[in-house]
Amino acid sequence: MFKDRIAVITGASRGIGRSIAEHMAEHGASIVAVSRRSTDTEDLVQQIKDAGGEAISVAADVSAAADVEAMLKVILDTFGRVDILINNAGITRDALLPRLKDEHWDEVLNINLKGAFLCTRAVARVMAKQRYGRIINITSVVGQMGNAGQANYCASKAGLVGMTRSNALELGRRNVTVNAVAPGFIETDMTAELSDKVRKSMLDQIPLGTFGKPADVAAAVAFLASEAAGYITGHELSVNGGMHM
Ligand code: NAP
Repeated sequence: MFKDRIAVITGASRGIGRSIAEHMAEHGASIVAVSRRSTDTEDLVQQIKDAGGEAISVAADVSAAADVEAMLKVILDTFGRVDILINNAGITRDALLPRLKDEHWDEVLNINLKGAFLCTRAVARVMAKQRYGRIINITSVVGQMGNAGQANYCASKAGLVGMTRSNALELGRRNVTVNAVAPGFIETDMTAELSDKVRKSMLDQIPLGTFGKPADVAAAVAFLASEAAGYITGHELSVNGGMHM
C-alpha cells in the first residue's frame, strides 16, 4: 500500500501517533518518527527495523520553526523525498475559562495549530515539486462540539479544520491532498488522566458503547494517506463511535 512512500508522523512516541507509524510501516511505508526526544521513538524504530521495515527517529519540537526546518533537512538527506505528513503531535492544558492561563493558551495553540502549520509549510514545497503528497491533520470531536474546560484545545482543533481546507485549496493543483481525522474518545495517555466520572459520562454518549483504540484512528489515517483516497481533499473524517454526527 505504501511501498516507496516516506511518511512523517509527529508525536510518534506513543498513543495514536505510534499506532499510525506501526500501521503504515506494516503496509510498507518508510517511517520518520518525530517527537521531542529521539530516545522516545528508538524502540519504535527498532521494532519496525526488526520487522524488515525502514524507519528513523527525529527529535523536533513541532512548535519551533528551526527544529522543523532541521527535521526536513534530515528527511531529505536520508530519503530524498517526503510523501506523507501526519500532523498528530498535540497536548492538552485544561482549565475552565476564569482559570485558563495565558501561557497554557499559547502552549496549546503553538503545538497543536502552529506546529501543524510549520510542518505543513516545510513539506508542502517538496510535495508540490514532486507533484504528490498526502497531509493529514489530527483534529478532535471536541473541535466540532466544544468542551467545557478545553477552550484552548478546542480552538486549536477547530483552527486545524480551517487550515486543512485552505491548504487543500492551495495544494490541490499539485496533486497534494490535505484532510483531517477527528478522533472521539481514544484510550491513550492523554485520556488516561480523566476521572472515572468523566469517563462514564463520555461512554454514555457513545452509540457504539466503547472507547476507541489508537488502531481505529490509524486505519482511517492510512486510508486517507493511500493512493486510493486520491480524489478526497479538504475532508474531516470522524472516528468517534457515533459520539457526534
Ligand atoms: P499522547 O498519548 O499524549 O501523545 C502525544 C504525542 O505528541 C507524543 O508522542 C508527544 O511526544 C507528542 N508531542 C507533544 N508535544 C510535542 C511537540 N511540541 N513536538 C513534537 N511532539 C510533541 O496523545 P494521543 O492521545 O495519542 O493524541 C494524539 C493526537 O490525537 C493529538 O493531536 C490529540 O489532540 C489527538 N486526539 C486524541 C484523542 C484521544 O482521545 N486520545 C481524541 C481526539 C484527538 P513527546 O511528549 O514524547 O515529545
